[in-house]
Amino acid sequence: MSAPAFHPHDHSHCVHDALSEAERLCTARSVRLTEIRRRVLELVWSSHKPLGAYDILDRLTAEGHKPAPPTVYRALEFLLEQKLIHRIASRNAFIGCSHPGAPHAGYFLLCTTCGNAEEIGNSVPLAQAVAAAAGLAEFLVESQTLELAGTCRHCRHD
Ligand SMILES: [Zn+2]
Ligand SMILES: [Zn+2]
Ligand SMILES: [Zn+2]
Repeated sequence: MSAPAFHPHDHSHCVHDALSEAERLCTARSVRLTEIRRRVLELVWSSHKPLGAYDILDRLTAEGHKPAPPTVYRALEFLLEQKLIHRIASRNAFIGCSHPGAPHAGYFLLCTTCGNAEEIGNSVPLAQAVAAAAGLAEFLVESQTLELAGTCRHCRHD
């Protein structure tokens, strides 16, 4: 799959696939994808633009849910723990994981024009380079996120 975030596509398929995969994984792991967790995941997947906690809160409030901020934070925490979403530090926002079943580092291309984020699939050479650099420093890596900011092909051609 080559960078769907940066090409026009039927996004309803992305949302559908992400939610059914999340349900499958939660069942397999015996954890509960409660209504609020599911709705927060669906909101994170509403586009390929990273979404902040306050945007999520605003949308839930607009839908008449009026959730307390801790409820939303706990739902985000759960989704992060289950690796169904990633945190994009440079935007203080969250993005749905496009291949949540397999362990992987979060490597992202962030377009500063359209705001979309695309997860780079498991890049073995990149992961090996990071592991080698950390190994030289005798550093134990527990999590890693790489954020590359720039302009996507679609935006450069417009
Ligand atoms: Zn999509
Ligand atoms: Zn991912
Ligand atoms: Zn773009």
